[in-house]
Amino acid sequence: MGDLKAAAAKASGSLRAINIVDFDAFKKHRHPGSYHVVPGDARGEWFFCYCCPCGCGVIAPITVGANFKPPQSPSWNWNVSTTEPTLTPSVHHKGHWHGWLTDGYWRSV
Ligand SMILES: [Zn+2]
Repeated sequence: MGDLKAAAAKASGSLRAINIVDFDAFKKHRHPGSYHVVPGDARGEWFFCYCCPCGCGVIAPITVGANFKPPQSPSWNWNVSTTEPTLTPSVHHKGHWHGWLTDGYWRSV
């Protein structure tokens, strides 16, 4: 199943990023490119958990700031959208996938 999804992602060149509000469902289904955001702290820093777009099923949490890039590295600037999320800079899941999440789509480089 994962192989088919991965093939579909590669064929289309972009992959829809789907927000999964239920963390248990997110962890259960592990749909490539899906994500779950953990509400931010007083500094406006959130955890953005994404399922690797390559289709391997690995979930990785990254630190994102609400419209800013947190000072620690690595971290990303998130546009605070849960429907059309954009992260900058690019996301590099080493050995798996490297690309951009822009306006709700993962696009590999
Ligand atoms: Zn992967």
